[in-house]
Amino acid sequence: MSKAKPKTSFEIQVSEDTWTCHLWKAKSYIKLFGDDSGAIMDPDEKTLNFRDDNLEPEIIGHELMHAFFGYLHLDSVVDPRIDDIEEIMASWQGTNFIRFHEKVVAIYEALKEFT
Ligand SMILES: [Zn+2]
Repeated sequence: MSKAKPKTSFEIQVSEDTWTCHLWKAKSYIKLFGDDSGAIMDPDEKTLNFRDDNLEPEIIGHELMHAFFGYLHLDSVVDPRIDDIEEIMASWQGTNFIRFHEKVVAIYEALKEFT
């Protein structure tokens, strides 16, 4: 069986690490990750995987936030209160929203031409 190859791939910076964005044909995506998601990230492989039949800035923003969330180092937080989550997100957004927005747009534009 031949291994599926992404339609395009490129590297991005997520916090202090280099991650790779992959755009998959829907058929390959479903084979690899199933059909119940619009995108999926893998924190161990440091990949963000998107499918070519469902590419929207909202999906990229959602998945990229998951990737960034790992760098908040909240692994030891058990049962956070909603106020804590609000404060964490508010401070993160306050510091990062411009760069985050620019990154979402850049990823979207780089992938869009392959859909
Ligand atoms: Zn999610």
